[in-house]
Amino acid sequence: MAKKKKSKKSNTWRPRTQMIRGGQERSGFDETCEALYLTSGYVYDKAEEARAAFKEEIDRFVYSRFGNPTVSIFEKRMALLEGTQACRGTATGMAAVFAALMCQLKTGNRVVASRALFGSCQYIVTEILPRFGIEITIVDGTDLGQWQEALSRETQAVFLETPSNPTLEIIDLKAVADLAHGAGAKLVVDNVFATPILQHPLEFGADIVVYSATKHIDGQGRCMGGAVLGTTEFCNDILKPFVRHTGPALSPFNAWVLLKGLETLELRIEAQSNNALELATYLSGLEGVTKVIYPGLASHPQHELAMKQMASGSNLISFELACGDSEDGKEAAFRFQNALELIDISNNLGDTKSLITHPVTTTHQRIEPEERARMGIGESLVRLSVGLEDVDDLKEDIAQALKAV
Ligand SMILES: *Cc1c(COP(=O)(O)O)cnc(C)c1O
Repeated sequence: MAKKKKSKKSNTWRPRTQMIRGGQERSGFDETCEALYLTSGYVYDKAEEARAAFKEEIDRFVYSRFGNPTVSIFEKRMALLEGTQACRGTATGMAAVFAALMCQLKTGNRVVASRALFGSCQYIVTEILPRFGIEITIVDGTDLGQWQEALSRETQAVFLETPSNPTLEIIDLKAVADLAHGAGAKLVVDNVFATPILQHPLEFGADIVVYSATKHIDGQGRCMGGAVLGTTEFCNDILKPFVRHTGPALSPFNAWVLLKGLETLELRIEAQSNNALELATYLSGLEGVTKVIYPGLASHPQHELAMKQMASGSNLISFELACGDSEDGKEAAFRFQNALELIDISNNLGDTKSLITHPVTTTHQRIEPEERARMGIGESLVRLSVGLEDVDDLKEDIAQALKAV
């Protein structure tokens, strides 16, 4: 017999407990696992109830484009984990980035963004927003002087990514948040590379945090998803109408998979970051590797800032390969990737499986070579997303591939 269970009080639990139980509301069937409500719509006992629901006089689910019980558990759990008041799940990380920016901007507004961005984020900022008469200023994210100058006049939104993809630059969140607020802007942080486990941008003054849940939150290569987090005021009054009417909704099935991902997120991130630190150290001593970029290494130009903002260096390493006299950097990177026997060539990241990609010919191929050079993305640079495998197997694979090169 179905009986409605009281949901447990979840606002006092510690983060690790929240990730397992936060936001769960059991149905009347007393299921252990979060229920998967794979439904597009909802029914009403009476026509009057439908009317009241549409008038928002009563709080209930109406249509899964704007609300679904499984998606709602995911949103509550994400908000608890991030320490924000509210969260909106989205179909992909890009839907989250686009909605977070577009919902609050209009013609005549101004956006300041850092140069080193994920390829599609860069496309939104430099190609799509200007079409709507939004003024864009791009700065070198590591140069506070440039932020200061750009934010010396009225601005509506600041967008950045730290660590950045793929050069793992670190941006001073506190300093940029202060400058953004001085200019009247909201600071939107794409926190994908740091994950909600290692960095909490709100603690440094950010207003809105976005995630591609496709990456570490699923972390097992199964589904797409995204999230926008912020105040109740922002999420309900500004973001909600935008996503309700434009439709980047997170599928209930994907929300359910992502909930399973959240249960093991902390364990995976800790183990993968430990693997990454060990591998970055190992790579630094290898012949054939000319440069290793990893925020957790003392050799990273912003190591100190990274360790102030992040609990560890995360699981991404970028490195450059030495090339022979007669070949260019791209050929060296291709030969190295093709010689790998364990690590997969894939542009995804945050997965339990170690994945490697060559940004110049994949994620950042659309960007002009001069701009790429300005972003520090060299021809022989590869980006490694370190997985959960035995680190000695990863070391051996890299060593044998380097020998083959
Ligand atoms: C992957 C990624 C995105 C986009 O997320 P999708 O889920 O692929 O749409 C945005 N920002 C960063 C930093 C990413 O790595």
